[in-house]
Amino acid sequence: MIRSTENHFCARILDRRDISQDLSVFQIDPGGPFTYRAGQYATLGIERNGVRTERPYSIASSPYEDALEVFVELVPNGSLTPNLFQLKPGDSLLCRKIAKGRFTLDLRSDRSNHLLVSTVTGIAPFVSYVRTLYRDWKNGGTPMPGNHKLFCLQGASRPFEFGYREELEGYSAEVPWFKYVSTVSRPWEAPGWQGERGRVDDLLRKYADKWELQAETTTVYLCGHPKMIENSRGTLERAGWKKDAFLEEAYYHAAIKESGGKFETRAAQEKQESLLTP
Ligand SMILES: Cc1cc2nc3c(=O)[nH]c(=O)nc-3n(C[C@H](O)[C@H](O)[C@H](O)COP(=O)(O)OP(=O)(O)OC[C@H]3O[C@@H](n4cnc5c(N)ncnc54)[C@H](O)[C@@H]3O)c2cc1C
Repeated sequence: MIRSTENHFCARILDRRDISQDLSVFQIDPGGPFTYRAGQYATLGIERNGVRTERPYSIASSPYEDALEVFVELVPNGSLTPNLFQLKPGDSLLCRKIAKGRFTLDLRSDRSNHLLVSTVTGIAPFVSYVRTLYRDWKNGGTPMPGNHKLFCLQGASRPFEFGYREELEGYSAEVPWFKYVSTVSRPWEAPGWQGERGRVDDLLRKYADKWELQAETTTVYLCGHPKMIENSRGTLERAGWKKDAFLEEAYYHAAIKESGGKFETRAAQEKQESLLTP
């Protein structure tokens, strides 16, 4: 039995869409007034035998939607996700009352292009950006102040892992301010795949050139696998991007297996802990 606390709502699974055995999109009733900005994350948790385990999850839904949507990968030996993947519609979980995170669209700098780069579930905050802007655009509002454009690259090992490919390709075909390209790094496992091949960080230069993105006018958003983030930053810094043009959301930090999952550095551990601080 999950109960709300001073800091948590008792949330409820409304629906889930299983993408594969280890990828699922959860629709959640947060259980109370939960406000957020596109790009922020929710902290979800489960209590078992008196032990509460919580983790941050980027929100894929738009603030315009009633349900909170997250795209989660099962980490087989993880503390939370094996229990989360047992949940079915109607089951309860904890949701911290306050959304957090600064991975929101940079509308303050002079840069009007936004290069969104993700691996698998790292697409979630970008889905939230695009759903939100699409809704504004459909309602006749300008998508953003000024002439902003979004360019999105998503990488996965196999085509079925993208989660939101059809939806994003739909926006890309319809609106003038959004482009989306997906790439698979194991095309030999999907002989029918007609799209891009290779790791997303290997395609960055190609698409930065193709979309005519310049360092001075483009903010880069990197979300998901820590190695992809490191590689992408390196590639783009060598191409002239400055440190203040990057926003990053690393989903985890490399751990030292022999030491029972401890963090590689004190800084990495502190970052993870600070994410869970109310
Ligand atoms: C800001 C933020 C947003 C996030 N958003 C999402 C999201 O939208 N979707 C999502 O699925 N996850 C997201 N994560 C990761 C999520 O918070 C959990 O870390 C992840 O679900 C694993 O939780 P766990 O308790 O099952 O595993 P843990 O017990 O936390 O981890 C066990 C071990 O697996 C490693 N690990 C953790 N995640 C992965 C992974 N994906 N692949 C390989 N190894 C991993 C850890 O470093 C650790 O060594 C986000 C993380 C952050 C910091």
